[in-house]
This record gives sequence, C-alpha cells and structure tokens, in this order.
Amino acid sequence: MNAILITTKATSVIAQNMKTGKLFVLSGPSGVGKGTLRQHALNNAPNLKYSISCTTRKPREGETDGVEYRFISHAKFQEYISCELFLEYAHVHEDYYGTLKADVMNDLESGHDVLLEIDVQGALQVKEKMPEAVLIFVAPPSVEVLTQRLTGRGTENAESLNVRLNNAIGELSYKDKYDYVIVNDDLESACEELRRIIL
Ligand code: ADP
Ligand code: 5GP
Repeated sequence: MNAILITTKATSVIAQNMKTGKLFVLSGPSGVGKGTLRQHALNNAPNLKYSISCTTRKPREGETDGVEYRFISHAKFQEYISCELFLEYAHVHEDYYGTLKADVMNDLESGHDVLLEIDVQGALQVKEKMPEAVLIFVAPPSVEVLTQRLTGRGTENAESLNVRLNNAIGELSYKDKYDYVIVNDDLESACEELRRIIL
C-alpha cells in the first residue's frame, strides 16, 4: 500500500515537472491559405510538430500517403471510429477527416507543441476535450479573393470547387468561437501574426 502511495506521489511530482507542449488548431475555409501558413510556421518553429490527419479523400496529384494525409478507406475510418482512436473527426466537403489521439498525445507529452489543421467542427470538438488548446481561425480578406485563390490553386474540379465555396460561408460564421482570427491578406503579415501566436 505504502509502495503504491510513494509511487503515485513520485509520478505526480514527475508529471508536475514535465513540460508538456501546447496544442494549436488552425481552421478556415478551403483556399484561404491554411496550408501555406502552416508550412511557414513549421519552418520557423523548431519545437512545433504537425499532426498528419487521416482522410477518406482521394490523394491529389503530387500528394503522398503519410505526408499530407494518411489516405484510408471508408471501412478503415469506421474501424478507427469504433475503436475510439480519434481525438476528433468530421465529415467535411463530402469526405471524412480525423485526428489520431495517440499521435497528438505522444507529441504533447514529449514536450513538443502540436499544430492541427482541421475544420471548424473538429476544432470545437478539440476545444471541448482540451480547453487549453489555442484555436486560430484564418479568414480571407473577401469572398472574391477566396474564390480567386481556390480557383487559382487548380486542384479542384468544378463540383468540388462549388462544394468548398458554398461551405465557406458557413465556416466563416464560426470565427467568433476562436481565440484568434488572422486575416490572410498580405501573406508575410499573416505568417508573422501566426508565428507570434505560436511563440
Ligand atoms: P488552404 O490550405 O487553406 O486550402 P492554400 O494554403 O492551399 O489554402 O492556399 C490556396 C492558394 O492561395 C495557394 O495557391 C496559395 O499559394 C495562395 N495563397 C495563400 N495565401 C495567400 C496570400 N496571402 N496572398 C495570395 N495568395 C495566397
Ligand atoms: P483538403 O481536402 O482541402 O485537404 O481539406 C479539407 C478540409 O478538411 C480543410 O478544412 C481541412 O482543414 C479539414 N481537415 C483536414 N484534416 C482534418 C482532420 O483531421 N479533422 C477535421 N475535422 N478536419 C480536417
């Protein structure tokens, strides 16, 4: 009994002294520049790790399994849901996307800061489970600019473009629930704003 008490006390002392990382969540409509800002943040914050999500979406040209996403089947995604492996997951633009709990927890426990780039539904699930998470919303200067960026990226067919632009209006209405809102107009200023929030 005493041994258990001593062990428990020792563990809690270690836990108190251990520095766990911070969790940052980046959201915003498709084409607003999240991926661009994320890459800049990762290049400039050595302690920051990106959590690679799982998705049922098909890889775009140039995307590699395990790099941008873990591209998995619907059956596998359902299996992960049943086994409660996800910290959060959501149905976004007609596909499923989810963050693996173990990945995030291991990185935070090893003292790394972790960045998630996930949709608004997922972000709110994370905030509910981990209120200390810092939610950052990336907004476009205007819907016209968003349309130009998404079209200019050249990754979506007409149907996917429509779905993403229609969803953008709904996503923008969530921005007041976030801790920070970055308007991605001038890229350099937006990168600097994100860097400051993270550091
Ligand atoms: P998301 O990850 O949010 O879907 P991306 O990072 O892929 O968006 O950006 C969409 C497109 O907009 C890309 O072609 C990117 O180079 C461009 N872009 C991102 N930020 C800016 C900016 N501030 N000014 C002009 N173009 C930008
Ligand atoms: P895309 O298909 O353009 O890569 O991503 C579409 C949307 O899915 C984006 O809003 C992106 O942030 C979101 N997303 C990517 N990974 C996840 C995830 O793990 N969980 C949730 N909820 N959304 C995600």
